[in-house]
Amino acid sequence: MAKRGVIIVAGGSGRRMQSAIPKQFLILGGLPVVARTINTFAEAMPGAEIVVVLPKDDIEMWRNLAARFDVAVHRTVAGGKERFDSVKCGLEALSNEVEYVAVHDGVRALVSKKLIIRTMLDVEHSGATIPVVDVVDSYRRVEGEDSVIVPRSELRIVQTPQVFRASLLREAYLQPFSASFTDDASVVEGLGHKISLVNGERTNLKLTTPDDLEWAEWWLAKEGRE
Ligand code: C5P
Repeated sequence: MAKRGVIIVAGGSGRRMQSAIPKQFLILGGLPVVARTINTFAEAMPGAEIVVVLPKDDIEMWRNLAARFDVAVHRTVAGGKERFDSVKCGLEALSNEVEYVAVHDGVRALVSKKLIIRTMLDVEHSGATIPVVDVVDSYRRVEGEDSVIVPRSELRIVQTPQVFRASLLREAYLQPFSASFTDDASVVEGLGHKISLVNGERTNLKLTTPDDLEWAEWWLAKEGRE
């Protein structure tokens, strides 16, 4: 079987959670947020190399915290200024034998094993696969003083894990940074490569505010995934 790698990016400062502890380290259902993410990937992708990208100053705090919980085997590396830089640091830490790489936002701790497996199966023929969900709200584009409706049937919400053939992702990340690179798919698209879409999950949220965390506690209890 092809060797697989996972880059969990948790290198942002996460100021919106209004807590002294970085949001990726807060306890959710008895486990730090990022530990839950690591363990779900370890179960869905047995044998995969897992690299966790953290702010340089938080690595020691994480090591102390991780030692107190049951966290699957992983490596930690320091991130960079932009998410783009953090993914690059993660890629450098993966071994050259890795053929497929999943990149996942550390704070999307509710991702299911099913979704991870769905993206991993699709990427074997696409080379680049991302999960998306339909939008339920209406959207307007603001144009100066005016605004226009954007047909929602044309829109999708983009999630992670975003999964790629490793050689393609490595080549894409050789490009210079551009402000339009808001996720990995946009970086790979910069090479002109097509992106395959699979169904994401409405519950695969970026846990961003204290309310998100409260809701996530409730949802995990309901699903029996505590
Ligand atoms: O807020 P944003 O959408 O950029 O964050 C998405 C993910 O990227 C988060 O998991 C965050 O921790 C990570 N990130 C990172 N390094 C940065 C900025 C964000 O790893 N410099």
